[in-house]
Amino acid sequence: MNKKQGDNIRNFCIIAHIDHGKSTLADRFLELTSTVEKRKMKEQYLDMMDLEKERGITIKLQPVVMSYKLPAAIYKLNLIDTPGHIDFSYEVSRSLKAVEGAILLVDATQGVQAQTVSNLEASRELGLVIVPVVNKIDSPNARVEETKREIIEILECEEEDILEISAKTGEGVEALMKEIIRRVPPPRSSSAGSPRSLVFDFEYSVHKGVILYVRVMDGSLKKGDNVFLYQAGKGFVVGEVGVFRPASDSVSSLSVGEIGYVVTKLKEANIARVGDTLISKNSSLAPLEGYKKPAPVVWAGVYTESQDDFVSLKQALQRLNLSDSSLTFEEEESGILGRGFRCGFLGMLHLEIVAERLKREFGLVLVVATPSVVYKVEDLTGKVREIYSPALFPEHFEIKKIFEPWVRIKIITPADKLNDVLRVLRQHDALIGETQDFGASGLSRRFILNLEMPLREMMDGFFEQLKSATSGYASLSYEIVEGREADLVKLDVLLNEENVSAFSRIVKKSDMQREAQKTADKLKKFLPPALFVIKIQVKALGRILSARSITALKKDVTGYLYGGDITRKQKLWKKQKRGKEKLKKFGRVNVPHDVFLKMIRDKD
Ligand code: GDP
Ligand code: MG
Repeated sequence: MNKKQGDNIRNFCIIAHIDHGKSTLADRFLELTSTVEKRKMKEQYLDMMDLEKERGITIKLQPVVMSYKLPAAIYKLNLIDTPGHIDFSYEVSRSLKAVEGAILLVDATQGVQAQTVSNLEASRELGLVIVPVVNKIDSPNARVEETKREIIEILECEEEDILEISAKTGEGVEALMKEIIRRVPPPRSSSAGSPRSLVFDFEYSVHKGVILYVRVMDGSLKKGDNVFLYQAGKGFVVGEVGVFRPASDSVSSLSVGEIGYVVTKLKEANIARVGDTLISKNSSLAPLEGYKKPAPVVWAGVYTESQDDFVSLKQALQRLNLSDSSLTFEEEESGILGRGFRCGFLGMLHLEIVAERLKREFGLVLVVATPSVVYKVEDLTGKVREIYSPALFPEHFEIKKIFEPWVRIKIITPADKLNDVLRVLRQHDALIGETQDFGASGLSRRFILNLEMPLREMMDGFFEQLKSATSGYASLSYEIVEGREADLVKLDVLLNEENVSAFSRIVKKSDMQREAQKTADKLKKFLPPALFVIKIQVKALGRILSARSITALKKDVTGYLYGGDITRKQKLWKKQKRGKEKLKKFGRVNVPHDVFLKMIRDKD
């Protein structure tokens, strides 16, 4: 038989809803192929970031190459572990382009969930071979037969195509490995000879500069090659090539179909772009189809507590951007908080993770202002502007029309939770469209709900409320759709007469009174008392809608004195009073950096 290069390579990823067991299955693959020594094996091995380990979630895609020996041949298996949370679906879409097949993993205790469906759709669009697998068959709560029926319904496959495994015990995993080799096609090159690779991720190293993660589509790559990054328009000499085991391991060359890394030695941060094509210096090959950079969903001003750290924050964001290409940022000036950045995120979890990474990996103390979606505001002359920050929202008398983004949402819910779901949907102004029956009938009967709501509402605690109302049994996926006209106003917060623009928020006009009261109450709850009275006022449409005050702390200056000496006490009290007056005059209200996020999380 005529063997072709790449015949013994299989590239695949695992797609699943969050917590359905991707990382655990990857652990079993690593063990089975002895990629990681038994004594070094830890749970969710590929979640290499500390933050991933602590939270038990995958944030970043992680490739790994494994070697698997069958009587006929030794196979090189490239697996890319991907995150399951909606905010990180960009990581999934990138991984999908670098592989030929995908394991569709479904938790038998949960059944098919919304992200299962949306990931499946994305894989199908790219023409990947799908290997359907039911996981967690060891669990006493596993509903294997029903889960299979649901898979058949969404995938339109035969029951015999579906494999059963326990990623926990390892049952069925070896059989799955063999099926991947059998069903997933080996990579095929479209053009003979000349090298061409897809950049699907990158990282930065102080010593090696930008390190590209590539999938070699045509030809091969080795150290010393003269290459060219198409979109960046930048040439360089390859410093090193290697593979992920999952730690970086240099190899002599990367051949067609392989997944690995390329050391560029380039130190400019803005060179690397996800979706770029790497070709030979004088090649005339056309670029590969790249990726669409996802549009940020929420924006928030990010500031350092001390202005001296502004430059550090800038460097940190640039650095972080090199391992998280979905992050967007731009310099911004905000009155009370000073210079900072307007950052765009793919969702609230993404925002939280970025803030946490800035804190941990760069030691920065941050203030994150109230997150907001992007509004389109038409002024009286008919000019339309995009407003990313509530602080920059024009005054109401300058506005003719406001447009806000909407989302199309798909929710999968058990029938007995339907009423709870509907209640939450009503609170968030959802327009409910088509509802379909899904899966088995009887006890485990489920529905797929299709609906639309303002993105602003979705960002306003919708996920959390849906989760708690349904004990986690409902799942959702969404996409952004056309903006629509809305009747909105800006709420401003004044602390001791000073407008703290980081607290400004856009709310529905019909809700403004209630929102103003809630905001004032929350501020009273979360702001620490000072040595002077703090006056809280919430304003909209030029009127104060709600006011509260926080009484002054009485610093116990006499606490350490013995009872008797009343004259000394009086002296001290007098001194304290003078001090207070001074503070009141010159002191600003201290707003601790975590108050902003606390305010959003606190759901009444
Ligand atoms: P991921 O979010 O898809 O990467 O899911 P993880 O691999 O992190 O698994 C989520 C949870 O499910 C973890 O607590 C795992 O221990 C558990 N889990 C994964 N596979 C199995 C399985 O086959 N059986 C059981 N009982 N639990 C599993
Ligand atoms: Mg995971």
